[in-house]
Formats: sequence, C-alpha cells, structure tokens
Amino acid sequence: MQELTHYINGEHVKGTSGRFADVFNPATGEVQAKVPLASKEELEKAVEIAAEAQVKWEKVNPQRRARVLMAFVGLLNRDMDKLAETLSREHGKTFPDAKGDIQRGLEVCEYCIGAPQMLKGEFTDSAGPGIDMYSMRQALGVTAGITPFNFPAMIPLWMFAPAIACGNAFILKPSERDPSVPLMLAELMEEAGLPKGVLQVVNGDKEAVDAILYNDTIQSVGFVGSTPIAEYIYGTGCAQGKRVQCFGGAKNHMIIMPDADLDQAADALIGAGYGAAGERCMAISVAVPVGEETADRLVEKLIPRIEKLKVGPYTAGDDVDYGPVVTSAAKENILRLVQTGIDQGAELVVDGRDFNLQGYEDGFFVGAHLFDRVTPDMDIYKQEIFGPVLSTVRADTYEEAIQLALDHEYGNGTAIYTRDGDTARDFANRINIGMVGINVPIPVPLAYHTFGGWKKSVFGDLNQHGPDAFKFYTRTKTVTARWPSGIKEGGEFNFKPME
Ligand code: NAD
Repeated sequence: MQELTHYINGEHVKGTSGRFADVFNPATGEVQAKVPLASKEELEKAVEIAAEAQVKWEKVNPQRRARVLMAFVGLLNRDMDKLAETLSREHGKTFPDAKGDIQRGLEVCEYCIGAPQMLKGEFTDSAGPGIDMYSMRQALGVTAGITPFNFPAMIPLWMFAPAIACGNAFILKPSERDPSVPLMLAELMEEAGLPKGVLQVVNGDKEAVDAILYNDTIQSVGFVGSTPIAEYIYGTGCAQGKRVQCFGGAKNHMIIMPDADLDQAADALIGAGYGAAGERCMAISVAVPVGEETADRLVEKLIPRIEKLKVGPYTAGDDVDYGPVVTSAAKENILRLVQTGIDQGAELVVDGRDFNLQGYEDGFFVGAHLFDRVTPDMDIYKQEIFGPVLSTVRADTYEEAIQLALDHEYGNGTAIYTRDGDTARDFANRINIGMVGINVPIPVPLAYHTFGGWKKSVFGDLNQHGPDAFKFYTRTKTVTARWPSGIKEGGEFNFKPME
C-alpha cells in the first residue's frame, strides 16, 4: 500500500500524526494509497518554514517570480499525460476531462505570468506642493488554500499561481480524496525554480484546517468546497482577522425557452448535467423548460441521449462519457436523494439505480437519472446532489422560470437557451447569479476574467483569478511623500485637504 506524504521545505515528508485517510480508485473501489492527516504541530512547522522563505521570495523582483510560472507552464505541458492519469485514477473522471482540469488551471498560470503588469502601483505627481502620492501592492506573507476533491489540479492552481506571483508563500491543504496531483504540482513548481518552502502541501482534514484558521502567521485563507464548510471557514477565519474568500455549493438552472433550438439545448444538458458524473460546481442540475410543449419535447429528446451515455473507467480512454463518483459515501448520498425524489412525487423518467458495470462491480459508478415534474419543495430541488441526476422543473412562463432561479439559495452559475436577444438580455441583467451562459451551458469564465458565484455559493468579496486575484493576494499601501524645497515651514497639526 502506497503511503503518501506531505511536501514541506522541498521534501516529501512522512506524516507523524499516526492518522491516515484512504485514497480510493473509484473505478475499482480499491484503496490505492493512504494519505497522512496532519496534526496542528505538523501544520505549524510548515508555516514557520513558509514564513522564512516568504521574506526572501517577496524580494525577488516580480519579473523573475513570473519566470518561475513561465517555466512551470512548460513542465505542466510536458507532464500533462502523467498528471491526468494520476488525477483520473484518484478522482474517477475521464482522461480527457482530467486534462481539461489541468488545462484550466494552467491557463491561470499563464495569466499570472503577467503579474508584473498587475502589480504596478499608482502614482500621483504633485498631489500637493512638493507632495507625491503613490500606492503599492505588497504581498500578504504566508497564505493558505483549502481545496475540494472535484478539481484537484485546477483549483489549487487558481489559488497558488496568483498568490506566489504576488510574492506570498502558500500552504495548500488539498482534498484528502485525491491528494497526489497537488503533491506533483508542488514538485514541478520547484523544478521550475521556486525556492523551497514557498509552496508546501500539508495533507489533512478538519484538524489541519483548524490549525490553518487559528494560526496567527497565516494572513489569508482561500477555500473551495461545500457551502456548510465554506460558511464555517469564512466565519472562523474572519473572526481570526484573516482575509478569507470561500466558494461553496451550487444548484445551476438552465432555462429553455420555447424558441430555443431544442436539439442544441438537449445536447448541452447532457454534457452539463452528466459530464464528470455531475461532480462539477458549474454542472447544470435543473432544467427549466418554459411551456408544456417545450417540456414534453425536451424530455423526449433527453431520454434517448441519456440512455446512450457511456459510463466507465478512465482506462477506457475517449470511449467514456463519465466515470464513477468519488467515494461509496458519495454514491450512497446520491441514491438516497434519488429515493427522496421518488418519495416526494417527482417522476423518474430515466432510472439509473440498477446500473452495474461488468468487471467493476465494486466501483462507485452511478447510472444517469432524469426526473420530470420536480417542484421547488422537493429535497432534490433544494439540495446539491453532486451526481448524474438532472431534475426538470416545468414553468408556464418566462417570469415563472426566472423566479425559480432568483429564489434558489445558490447562485453559482446559470444558463438560458433562446433565439431571442431581448429575453437573453433581460435574463442576464436581472438574474442574481454570478456566472451566466447565453446558449452556453457551463459558463466558466476564462483565466483573465474572474470566477465566482453569488448568494450561498460565495462568502467574501473578491472572485477567483482574473484581476481580483491580485487584489486578494496583496495589500495596498499608500505613501504620501513630501520632499521640501527651500525653507521648512515647521510642523503641521491639522488634517487638511491637499491644496
Ligand atoms: P468539502 O466541503 O467536503 O471539502 C472541501 C475541503 O474542506 C476539503 O479540503 C476538506 O478536507 C475540507 N473539509 C471537509 N470537511 C471539513 C470540516 N468539517 N472542517 C474543515 N474542513 C473540512 O467539499 P468536496 O466534497 O471536496 O467538494 C465538493 C463541493 O465543492 C461541492 O459542494 C461543490 O459545489 C463545491 N465546489 C464549489 C466550487 C465553486 O467554485 N463554487 C468549485 C468546486 C467545488
């Protein structure tokens, strides 16, 4: 049995807490490795090393820091297949989807190569007589990130690339479900030229998370995961005086107008609803067709497409649409929620409960499900299922459809399918959701825009990547400088506006 490590001060370090978590191969159900769960002391040791390394790293000029990321991007491309294979083996997602996970993170690294431009300050010449005023962006110090299982490459990269480009040290606490790729990323950063101790990986669970939240040296915490944990980390971290941004769960609606191209909408729903087994925070989990006829036609088009979905292990290559879910507990939770849907009166038009994959009976595969006539009071509508389960909520009018999305507690992503520009504009303007797709099912913004939801999908002010990342990972300092010329006028005691 492979025993994974932490990555501290440039070394793979064995865990000393005596506590471990199982890392599964979700396709076979086998435990393939044990990951150490750090104690408070192990976390604190890493923070001490980070604090020392950060002082020197911050003094490296921004362009040289950016060159490390430039070299790192080359190494990610070099090792893409190896990383993707490891990712698929621990997460279960298909090989092409694992590459996409790495690619979307790599693009944030590319964007962060432009950090010197983003970190330039502001300057006002002669703000007053003989007075110049300038603002500079300075690194925070030691920063930390806590990441979810569903994007084990992309989300750590979203966090540590800008943090490190800004001159911070970063401690990554990845998901204990799939920690191998984060360890590999830390190794590659060092191969790219990052000094030891600037990026460290401390594996763990709540104990390590709490050690991060209560550590006085750590200045900021980034979190991505489920909403209850996001709320806990945001509340606790802020109370400890840290800068915190937390991104939580989702329930993304796609509205299908009567004038939409229904084949296009059905194809989009298949990819967005069932891709990655529904384990994406930007997955569409609710389809809202407007009008009975649209609903009937849409459901009719969805059923054969869903029945044709190929579910299998990543080793089957491109011939698989989605793989297993991450753990048997996740599988049980999905099937439990499906049962509540049936019990509460939704119509299960595609039933994936008996799905079984020959040769992979112990894997965590879940068949695709489609519910029709779901109503807002049902658990399958209110809760995030995070599995291959799509719910159809029929709306009579556009107003009724948009109201559903407006009223839902989550606000991560949404989409509308229509041929009418007026409807699309109205939807984009009125909806209280952070990322909106118009005839685009999964509107994940590119690296140079920012990513973030609204409502219970986010806690904090700034989004991930794009220009917001440089604000989150720096503090602004503004200097007012006067170099008197001629005779000194003596002291000034009153706070007064610039002349
Ligand atoms: P999770 O909340 O279970 O775990 C996320 C992280 O928190 C992990 O590192 C985990 O070790 C840690 N953690 C778990 N329980 C904890 C506790 N009690 N105290 C402190 N830390 C704890 O989430 P997950 O299952 O890994 O990921 C899936 C969730 O992430 C979904 O809800 C999904 O919507 C969400 N997600 C959101 C976004 C976004 O950008 N909004 C992106 C990806 C995933």
